[in-house]
Amino acid sequence: MSQAVPFESKVWLSSPTMHGEELEYVKQAYESNWMSTVGENINEVERLAREYVGRKHAVALSSGTAALHMAVKLAGVKPGDEVLCSDMTFAATVNPVMYEGGIPVFVDSEFDTWNMDPVALDKAFELHPSAKVVMLAHLYGTPAKCKEIRRICDEHGAILIEDAAESLGATYLGDQTGTFGDYSVVSFNGNKIITGSSGGVLLTDDGDAADKARKWSTQSREAAPWYQHEELGYNYRMSNVIAGVVRGQFPHLEEHIAQKREIWARYCNAFSDLPVSMNPFDESTCEPNYWLSCLIVDREAMAKQVRGEHEALYVPESGKSCPTEILEAISALNAEGRPIWKPMHLQPIYRMNSFVTREGNGRAKTNAYIAGGAIAGDGLPLDAGADVFHRGLCLPSDNKMEPWQQDCIIEAVRRCFE
Ligand SMILES: *Cc1c(COP(=O)(O)O)cnc(C)c1O
Repeated sequence: MSQAVPFESKVWLSSPTMHGEELEYVKQAYESNWMSTVGENINEVERLAREYVGRKHAVALSSGTAALHMAVKLAGVKPGDEVLCSDMTFAATVNPVMYEGGIPVFVDSEFDTWNMDPVALDKAFELHPSAKVVMLAHLYGTPAKCKEIRRICDEHGAILIEDAAESLGATYLGDQTGTFGDYSVVSFNGNKIITGSSGGVLLTDDGDAADKARKWSTQSREAAPWYQHEELGYNYRMSNVIAGVVRGQFPHLEEHIAQKREIWARYCNAFSDLPVSMNPFDESTCEPNYWLSCLIVDREAMAKQVRGEHEALYVPESGKSCPTEILEAISALNAEGRPIWKPMHLQPIYRMNSFVTREGNGRAKTNAYIAGGAIAGDGLPLDAGADVFHRGLCLPSDNKMEPWQQDCIIEAVRRCFE
């Protein structure tokens, strides 16, 4: 087969998809001169977010990261406090713990949803009994095992912060992600399922907490005729212009999810005879929002691949492939793929932090860099995060990708295994 011709315009991993209403709400903000961090768009974003997800309160903020920072403060994390965190996630999940001087302890992932392993979380509480806060992310729009994790948190009297930045619209046993945390967070960053170009929302049922976050995010001004300050403040409020974009996107959330579901299903069908599988979930418990379609290469079909801190090498082998080779093939088509989010316990910045697998202290038991090098009692790699990172990748998942373009991408992936 001849080499495919690259796309004339790039197919992105996940880019903003606009519809027109966004511009109307932005224009209203402009024409009424509500161009700051107050206005109808902000009020509407808060109403839409809390009603859609099903929480009592929503606070619109400048980013998901800002919302996570407010959540960490509300949870009362103080310097030196250990916080049990999802390990395979975007760094923005855990960095806010550091902003408050907390110490992230990384909890390994499971192979059913690629999210925090409840068994490993149990172990983490055993090894770090003083931990009182858990930070849980739903990777790529697939809900974690929310009920089990909530139960374990309750057993230990721990506060659960839920990072639903990637998973708006996904449900677990019928409940929206964003309803499981004491404090939950959604992001409207440009690549998320709906976007404001930036922005985020903090969700909670605790009215006092919402009021505090609102105050802290607007420089902690006290009720006084002058600027009066009793607490540290932040400039974290959402702009009414950005809120106009988010407001215009909300009616299109279901449509975006349907498009992403179709993209995922199309890949899933097309790869059914290849030695790969798609990012997994349990149909009987959850409905993802399918934000990103990912694949993972079967262990037996992995070509040799080695990753340093900044570069990767692989040895091509007939009938086998690896993420590095597949990502090169996707890139050659002028499309954007990406490795699986590199787990936090493998990141140089967090190399001194504890890492807990389902069998206990992951740092002591395995050289985490050798994916699959240590096998647990259940026959699976001990370090699930390193293993999924080694074998997995994110496929182009843009709403605006045409079926013929997806077919070209599928063909390019298939050729890697020839
Ligand atoms: C995008 C993202 C964030 C951060 O959201 P921003 O709005 O970009 O600050 C946090 N956590 C996860 C898992 C994300 O994907």
